[in-house]
Amino acid sequence: AGRLHGKTAIITAAAQGMGKAAALAFAAEGAEVIATDINDGLLAAMHGLPGITPRRLDVCDPAAIIAFAGEVPAPSILFNCAGYVHAGTIMDCDEAAFEFSVALNVRAMYRMIRAFLPGMLEAGGGSIINMASVASSVIAAPNRFIYGTTKAAVVGLTKSVAADYVTRGIRVNAICPGTVDSPSLHDRMRALGDYETARAAFIARQPMGRLGTAEEIAALAVYLASDEAGFMTGQAITVDGGWSNT
Ligand code: NAD
Repeated sequence: AGRLHGKTAIITAAAQGMGKAAALAFAAEGAEVIATDINDGLLAAMHGLPGITPRRLDVCDPAAIIAFAGEVPAPSILFNCAGYVHAGTIMDCDEAAFEFSVALNVRAMYRMIRAFLPGMLEAGGGSIINMASVASSVIAAPNRFIYGTTKAAVVGLTKSVAADYVTRGIRVNAICPGTVDSPSLHDRMRALGDYETARAAFIARQPMGRLGTAEEIAALAVYLASDEAGFMTGQAITVDGGWSNT
């Protein structure tokens, strides 16, 4: 049997990047996965993947979260993966950019956990995994003002919920990746104008001289989701190719 045999998982932002890699890795380890996202086209392409049920969920829509939580049994694993990278300093971050990043990167996790935690407690416990970043309370990245601010909030949210439910079977941990190859990373490289120069700059900040892969991050998510991590809670685990070690 796989390492997640008998477990159910809900993953947000699971139609591409690390969320999708986690959906595939969880299913390969025997979990029944509900892979949620807002990209209907990418979700449709996931129909038929063994162990994976694709489903639309906009994590910025509180009514949709409540409706979803009313439709499905509480999962044993909740992976809050959705997030957005705004580029710029505090002066580049207007009120709308601030609100958007707080809503998607932090408030959505607050809403997802409030929607699913009661059921998880009733079921006897579970593992919550929140996607942070090494650009957070761990290190600063230049031009990542609201991104780093919100991802630091994810670390605080993680530790707080972990502390409050530590005696009730709930483990909560955060993942802090360095630069990981994903579709949105390539979008950001293109948005900078000169794709090759931007790509080289993203790689140059990684001491290993390469980007991380979504699968390398999914492997940590599998561990945190599994009973192997039964003694681990309230942690923000960095997996960054040595970036924060320089
Ligand atoms: P990605 O950014 O390429 O894909 C994100 C997915 O989120 C897309 O499928 C998109 O449709 C979905 N999404 C966007 N808004 C949504 C919403 N409101 N509701 C539901 N889904 C929504 O994937 P990625 O780069 O692997 O990033 C995933 C997470 O990892 C994010 O939280 C990101 O901040 C974090 N992260 C990424 C990196 C990196 O270098 N790629 C590094 C550290 C942390």
